Amino acid sequence: MGDFNKIANLCKSRGFIFPGSEIYDGLANTWDYGPVGVELKNNIKRAWWKKFVQEAPASYGVDADIFMNSKVWDASGHTASFSDPKMDCKSCKTRHRADNLIEVHAKGSVNPDLMSNEEMEQYIAEHKVCCPKCGRCDWTNIRNFNLMFSTSRGVTEEGQNLIYLRPETAQGEFVNFLNVQRSMRAKVPFGIAQIGKAFRNEVTPGNFTFRTIEFEQMEHQWFCKAENSLEDYEVYKKKAWDFLLSIGFNSENLRYHDHDKLAHYAKAACDIQYKYPIGWQELNGIHHRGDWDLSRHQEYSGKSMLYLDPYTNEKYIPNVVEYSIGADRLTLAVLCEAYEEETLEGGDTRVVMHFHPAIAPYKVAVLPLQKNLSEKALEVYTKLSKYFMVTYDEAGSIGKRYRRQDEIGTPMCVTIDFDTLENNTVTIRDRDTMEQIRLSVDELVNYVNQKIAY
Ligand code: ATP
Repeated sequence: MGDFNKIANLCKSRGFIFPGSEIYDGLANTWDYGPVGVELKNNIKRAWWKKFVQEAPASYGVDADIFMNSKVWDASGHTASFSDPKMDCKSCKTRHRADNLIEVHAKGSVNPDLMSNEEMEQYIAEHKVCCPKCGRCDWTNIRNFNLMFSTSRGVTEEGQNLIYLRPETAQGEFVNFLNVQRSMRAKVPFGIAQIGKAFRNEVTPGNFTFRTIEFEQMEHQWFCKAENSLEDYEVYKKKAWDFLLSIGFNSENLRYHDHDKLAHYAKAACDIQYKYPIGWQELNGIHHRGDWDLSRHQEYSGKSMLYLDPYTNEKYIPNVVEYSIGADRLTLAVLCEAYEEETLEGGDTRVVMHFHPAIAPYKVAVLPLQKNLSEKALEVYTKLSKYFMVTYDEAGSIGKRYRRQDEIGTPMCVTIDFDTLENNTVTIRDRDTMEQIRLSVDELVNYVNQKIAY
């Protein structure tokens, strides 16, 4: 596993992730995915959708708008209380989250999530928790800072309405509960999934793409009967874990972390944490949300959210088990998990990204041994690119070209040599073992398909 600096450097030089608006000296904590990174992230999103929609018969996808009626955020509680406790250092004018300052200082001996603002202020004063930037202990009081970005809509100054960029995708699933249930003739229990952008004016963004102000979430809300909800919560805990293993995570780098402080409506909540180079941090959340969300939307919209059970004729508002994971935070974990600086026999070193073949940006690289073999190589490239993302490289020694593919995690390199012209066979080099086998061009598509199955 590499540290964030090494990974960020590799990401920039190899086309995974670039700093946002770089030619204008950037915009802090914004990042753009490059040609290689967009493939990786899309493959991760596709793998998630496969697991939580395609292979889950009772789950349906939606793609809701980022802008929603502002009453949605009143109902969800975001307007009133989606905030972080911020403190400003009077000396160097930097802004910090009080809970984070305590967390770092206390090293697990106290839990700031269980403290009121006053208790946090008291802890910081008593323990002389100082500013990590300038080392002084001269803080403002804590103020709650709402994390929603707002903008206004309307064509005239007077007629403008305040609207928000959604801070989570979940509400798009909740407000469409009845639409999905009726249009798909869905019976409880069933799920609604969505992948989309969310925006948060974070107090302390940073650590490469770990915490950003614009990010994508992959969320799945499972609507179920209250009496089955705790059992279903356990099922989703396991499903979330299994998904991570299926795309190549080592279970030693993952752990469950139960929440100490539960929302008043929740019966249980936990995160799955990943061992990032900065330590154990949240990768995704699984939350038992009771019937809070649908009840609140019923209250604020005045529309009934009651579900009529066709078998028992019971009417009830379903409970929700929510599973939420950031696509960017997961992509960063995948990059950390895949990164290896390997020393080879003979003392040579290489950087290799061991992506699971199913999510690797390119499945195959086609490499002609010499430039005068490029016509045949391009023929193979054209054939394979009908099925997979394939890259082509004819510049430099074959050894250097293999290394370039290792660094972007291409699982298979197909080399075209003079025998290819004679008997239509190629060599295939495996990224991880570096072993090579010879195969007919006609067998290539099947071979690659087998290797990338998951
Ligand atoms: P954290 O405690 O890290 O702020 P959270 O508990 O606020 O996260 P949720 O609101 O449960 O997070 O969001 C679900 C998921 O969305 C998180 O598990 C994470 O993967 C992702 N996520 C949340 N905030 C950000 C962010 N600012 N940047 C990138 N990903 C994020």
